Amino acid sequence: MDNYQIAENFSLLSKLMDIHGENSFKARSYGAAAFNIEKLPMQLSTIPHDELFSIKGIGESTGKKIIELLETGELKALKDIIAQTPAGVIEMLNIKGLGPKKIATIWKDMEIESIGELLYACDENRLKLYKGFGDKTQQNIKETIEFYQQNQGSHLYAQVEAVVPDIKNYLERLFTPDKVRLTGAFLRQMETIDELEFVISEPAENIKLKFQTAFPPELIEETPAYIIYKLKNGLKLKLYHGKEGRDEKLFRYSGSNEFVESFIKTFPEIEFNNGNASDDSHFFEKEKIQYIPPYLRETATIIDGAKSFSLPEVIQPTDIKGIIHSHSTWSDGSHTLEQMAVAAKEKGLEYLIISDHSKSAFYANGLTEDRIKAQHEEIEKLNEKLNPFKIFKSIESDILNDGNLDYSDNILSTFDLVIASVHSNLKMPEEKAMMRLLNAIENPHTTILGHMTGRLLLSRKGYPVNYEKIFEACIANKVVIELNAHPSRLDIDWRYIEAALNKGLLISINPDAHAIEGYEDCKYGILVAQKAGVTKEKNLSSFSLKEFKAYLKK
Ligand SMILES: [Zn+2]
Ligand SMILES: [Zn+2]
Repeated sequence: MDNYQIAENFSLLSKLMDIHGENSFKARSYGAAAFNIEKLPMQLSTIPHDELFSIKGIGESTGKKIIELLETGELKALKDIIAQTPAGVIEMLNIKGLGPKKIATIWKDMEIESIGELLYACDENRLKLYKGFGDKTQQNIKETIEFYQQNQGSHLYAQVEAVVPDIKNYLERLFTPDKVRLTGAFLRQMETIDELEFVISEPAENIKLKFQTAFPPELIEETPAYIIYKLKNGLKLKLYHGKEGRDEKLFRYSGSNEFVESFIKTFPEIEFNNGNASDDSHFFEKEKIQYIPPYLRETATIIDGAKSFSLPEVIQPTDIKGIIHSHSTWSDGSHTLEQMAVAAKEKGLEYLIISDHSKSAFYANGLTEDRIKAQHEEIEKLNEKLNPFKIFKSIESDILNDGNLDYSDNILSTFDLVIASVHSNLKMPEEKAMMRLLNAIENPHTTILGHMTGRLLLSRKGYPVNYEKIFEACIANKVVIELNAHPSRLDIDWRYIEAALNKGLLISINPDAHAIEGYEDCKYGILVAQKAGVTKEKNLSSFSLKEFKAYLKK
């Protein structure tokens, strides 16, 4: 073990002790030891153990730990403290500008345990409510995390979407538009993307030649079928190459393995080597079946639907008629209730459900009973002013530890509808999660179950649940399951809903908007809903104002 590695051990130990609020004198001395060891002219491993203690800046405790490191290769104290720290909290040390003190606040006070959660909290304006975190700090942390994540491999759909037009244009300029086709996970509207994939009808040599620019991207993998470049923003660009058989490649890489294999098994006579059409629809035409768009090419069963020409007519962005689930400056939103309502009206929407945080969400300035009354008065005034546009009175009521909502029945009955969500104690076993959720679903005031598993894509898994049981309970109690459209949530996962929709479940694609711009997130909910074959009839936020009112009455 060299000095650099030894120093790293001490440095991490010192930071973790600070995060845990342990003996700060010791923490500081380990920090200082790390600093000194890195600067030593000789390797500690070459010095007799008893001489270590006479080196300047190495005391009794540090010396003993150096010997432990040299002899065992590890430090028990460090191992122990790592075991007591969530991996995501340790990872925060990689975020520039986040020292142990701030990390301690983030972890212990805000109960945030991963970088992704932290980014989400920045989006929700949660950081600046804490001492030492101003507007500027929050913005800095947000930008640094985004930069850090870009270098970690996997990306949210929305992050990739922001750069696709430029990349596509660039490739089309290099190779002519006719030779460039988008494929892969992005084309399939997956919620997270590891690689942005294109089929390029050029041999590998030509592609590589064109990429020899002044600042070439890093070539990280090359096979007879594809080349992978890592772009400056961290995104991996996978290019399937070769002059021949573009349409076959387009077909093969635009569906899941299950789908593609099953398709080829179903139509063994399929001829692949004929073309350069604009897309791969001619394969479907030739087999005389309905065209299956890439977003539906996930399972083998969809092929039966195409054979019988019964693929669903999936929901479109224009089918959203109202904003369900939004926050204003009454709690942690950035815009006032009036600004939110006017913006929704100007977008041509028919209604807005304002569902600020409830009183248990103190970190989000949740509404006390008095403030609910005041907000309702404001809503009534605005409704007169904005008629026929309508604001509905709602609340995002916390599902407490025992599954109760955090207001009395009296208060809950003053809302037009209630969204029930879990925001605290997200780390729980299935049994506990099910108890809380089922209680909330059975509460007669609950209209919608918000972001059901609490997951944050690429950063928090979400608690385990029994989907079947939840669907049953929701159908029986006429509770709608939200498809939270925030690109980091997309919760409930689209993979689970199709079967339940057929049994009578209703979902609601909700932006959970904390600002006017948040309305645009509806789109991400729609993209994944399309994957599940959701039609507009199965989505509450596609109901017209009249239909929505009628639904609430029921
Ligand atoms: Zn929420
Ligand atoms: Zn919310």
